[in-house]
Amino acid sequence: MSIQLGTKKVGPNQMVISRKRATLLLHSQIVGRYPWLRDILERDGCLRGKVLETLTKEQRRIIDVSLEAMITRASDEWVSLSRVEIAEGKTQCTLCGKKGIKWKCFIRNKISDEEMLVGSECVKHFGFRRDGEKTLDQLIKDAERLWRLQLLGEEFDGVIERLEGSSSFLDSQPIVIPSRLARPYLSTARELRYSLDKFLDGKVRRGDEELHKESMLRSWNNFRRRIDEIERHVKEFSGHPFAPTRAIAQSLIRSGNWNVIEMLRENELITALTLHRISERGFLRSLIPRWNIIFESTGAVFHEVHDTRPDYEFEFRSHRGIRFVVPHSKLSMAYGTMIFGEKPIEELSAHKLFGMSTLGGSYSRVVRELLAPMINRTGYRIENIHVNDGSVVVREGDDTFLVIEEEAMAKSLVDLALGFSDQSRYKVLSFFQSPRHRRYNRRQLDALREAMRGFGESPTGRRSAR
Ligand SMILES: [Zn+2]
Repeated sequence: MSIQLGTKKVGPNQMVISRKRATLLLHSQIVGRYPWLRDILERDGCLRGKVLETLTKEQRRIIDVSLEAMITRASDEWVSLSRVEIAEGKTQCTLCGKKGIKWKCFIRNKISDEEMLVGSECVKHFGFRRDGEKTLDQLIKDAERLWRLQLLGEEFDGVIERLEGSSSFLDSQPIVIPSRLARPYLSTARELRYSLDKFLDGKVRRGDEELHKESMLRSWNNFRRRIDEIERHVKEFSGHPFAPTRAIAQSLIRSGNWNVIEMLRENELITALTLHRISERGFLRSLIPRWNIIFESTGAVFHEVHDTRPDYEFEFRSHRGIRFVVPHSKLSMAYGTMIFGEKPIEELSAHKLFGMSTLGGSYSRVVRELLAPMINRTGYRIENIHVNDGSVVVREGDDTFLVIEEEAMAKSLVDLALGFSDQSRYKVLSFFQSPRHRRYNRRQLDALREAMRGFGESPTGRRSAR
């Protein structure tokens, strides 16, 4: 005898709602709309064909038309969590009641917040939406790895963390780690990761496990020894004046000088070979006291590192206040060996130092205080200095005048001003006689000044400072 359900015929013992579907419905909010159905499911744990006879026509119609949608709604209420654990003993799936499931998967009801422990088969069967990025298979693989990791015991505590941070460990040290330490560190890390993955992914043959574990333990101990070595090295050298700091490495990376970093890794410390290739401000500043000892006899006094360029600012004791700048790279190529207590490549003299430097301002002082008396002795005469636009008017003859940029004059003749050239008269003359300076008579000069006032331009073409 069968029962009519819509267009189908159902046998008296046939399942209309299976046990696991019944459990899902009972744990879901949707069933609250059908108290009669909830009562049956609570009483029987399922719905068989013969019970249909006790239902009203309308209730039967609901079962026939809406059951599938109800189940879908019920499973939509649940999300499967990113938590999968390996099950032990006779763990039971809450939905289907199966005992001895292998994986404990956790699902949570979005409405009631209830959590439920189910087997992976039921997660797949109901297709619960995932909470998180990983697929169920990935979660199961993770859980399996975790379980195997626990089998390894305390001897391997921290192994995963150490391996995961193995490359950032080197980069996070306060100094550049030399290759002789970094290379074996990275290769033991690779070796350990390989054999650990093999074990955690269950790819070690049964029977080989003990042997594999022993070899893993050796790798792990090797790896930890390498870490200790690096930590000892950092402790010993991080205060060393020539240890390549992280700031130095970062500035080299910013400028794309990977080869210099490579050299520092090989040499361990900054040497005469790498000194001139480094431009990090903090390091350059740390060298100033050393340069001052080296240049003591030349009368040069180093003060600061230039704001924007890897240059030093210095002055000669004989002419305080007249600033020069010299590039660190030039200075180190000539005298860098002396920083390390060796002989210089260039002969050490004020003259040579002067030769690699440029005047760093104080042009008016150089022109007015130092050059004016020398120029006057040659028959030329400084008429006028326009401090605001930086030009100088020089009288050449009774009615001939030159207009020259003060900076150009100071830079060209500063060697005379400081006594680094003995051919002063000849140099002054050849500078002024050069055809590159334009010549004016008094009338033209006045007109030029008039025009300048109008346009705010200097006669040498430079924008007025005002
Ligand atoms: Zn199940």
